[in-house]
Amino acid sequence: MTGERRGSGGWDSVLAHEAHAVAPGGEWRSELWRVAVAQFDAAADLLGLDPDARTRLLEPRRAIVVNLPIRRDSGEMQSLTGYRVQHTFALGPTKGGVRYAPGVSLGECAALALWMSLKCALLGLPFGGAKGGVRCDPNRLSEAEMERVTRRFASELVPVIGPDQDIPAPDMATGEREMSWFMDTYSQHVGHPTPGIVTGKPVVLGGTAGRRAATGLGATICAEATLERLGRSLASSRVAIQGFGNVGAVIATEMAKRGATVVALCDVSGGVLAPDGIDVEAALSWVAENRFLRGFPGGVPCGREEMLETPCEVLVPAALECQVTAANAGRLECDLIVEAANGPTTPEADEILYKNGVNVIPDFLCNAGGVTVSYFEQVQNTYNYYWTLEDVYKQLDAKMTKAYHAVYETAQKHKVHGRQAAYMVAVARVAEACKLRGWV
Ligand code: NAD
Repeated sequence: MTGERRGSGGWDSVLAHEAHAVAPGGEWRSELWRVAVAQFDAAADLLGLDPDARTRLLEPRRAIVVNLPIRRDSGEMQSLTGYRVQHTFALGPTKGGVRYAPGVSLGECAALALWMSLKCALLGLPFGGAKGGVRCDPNRLSEAEMERVTRRFASELVPVIGPDQDIPAPDMATGEREMSWFMDTYSQHVGHPTPGIVTGKPVVLGGTAGRRAATGLGATICAEATLERLGRSLASSRVAIQGFGNVGAVIATEMAKRGATVVALCDVSGGVLAPDGIDVEAALSWVAENRFLRGFPGGVPCGREEMLETPCEVLVPAALECQVTAANAGRLECDLIVEAANGPTTPEADEILYKNGVNVIPDFLCNAGGVTVSYFEQVQNTYNYYWTLEDVYKQLDAKMTKAYHAVYETAQKHKVHGRQAAYMVAVARVAEACKLRGWV
């Protein structure tokens, strides 16, 4: 299936007469949307979902594209493009991250928004999915430029976001700093402090204890549970991690704390290998001082692609989408892939991994710790009463463990792999909500 089909035969035949017609769903065309549609269709087939429910569930409810004219530090004016896609309100207001990256597009945001809906449904959170971002190279923007981009983007989104409507959060190249600017800009527009407009804020501005580490911690909880199921442990595992940002750095720290040997790390600047183990604390200090891993003296330098093929028990893609493909899946030397990033594995690679007996913890289960603690943050903002770190971690563990077991019981019952099982659980929940609302 491609991202181009959808819509009833009636509309298809109407559009077919138009020489320059865009096929239904053509707006979302992108590699990530192709991946999302293929995965969704496979799950919908397994569930026997009827065509109306598929049509209702797949494509986003709405999207906004905004032009952001930004004054560079040089004095020059530059136009950037920003996107926000809201997938479905079936389960509640929408929720999802904001990323700054050169590849951000409408189609990429659409796929990520669909995955956010499924992630929230899987974790039992009262949200639909959304995703947004600005197409730019954040590594080439100064702090002042990042602030101007964030404030301008927030201003443009004011009409379509709100604590009861759509709640942004951090994603690639955004964090507490950007969420603070975002919240401040929104609050200025509406005329009163609105901490619940975003999650992932610093604690002093109404953030929650534990948000910073939540995604990485959730992925580590899933990895431990899977290894235990396989009769192994993190303490006896070699781990390779692609991406050393918000998520990858926490996973490296948490896994090392649990006794794992981190044998490979990489970021956008390149990788480092050390079969006897990398000192994660030293790598963190290096990046804090030098911004990137390049030049880190604690191992042998290696390429970004090469590190994925490092012999290890656990491989953690924690950077970009579409990193494990038909081209490299057969060469991976790991037993378990912990999908901390969104969409790191293509459907073609999935088949190869499944045949080769490589276990995969699917992304929207694996990295759901972030949105789960974001939900706790929103609950605390609403009540204006704040939890302890212990409360947050206890609730996070309970929600991740429950979702993990729901996925693996479904996998066993239907004899499908983890990703299909996660889709089945999540799609069935969103479909039920649509049906109960009378939408299908
Ligand atoms: P980040 O910007 O903090 O870190 C990204 C890391 O990837 C950086 O170390 C960067 O140098 C590296 N990187 C970029 N391009 C690369 C390349 N070509 N090869 C190797 N490394 C590269 O982003 P993040 O918040 O850690 O997000 C990482 C992934 O996790 C994304 O897919 C994101 O959608 C997903 N995710 C993040 C959260 C969250 O809470 N931040 C939650 C759920 C999912």
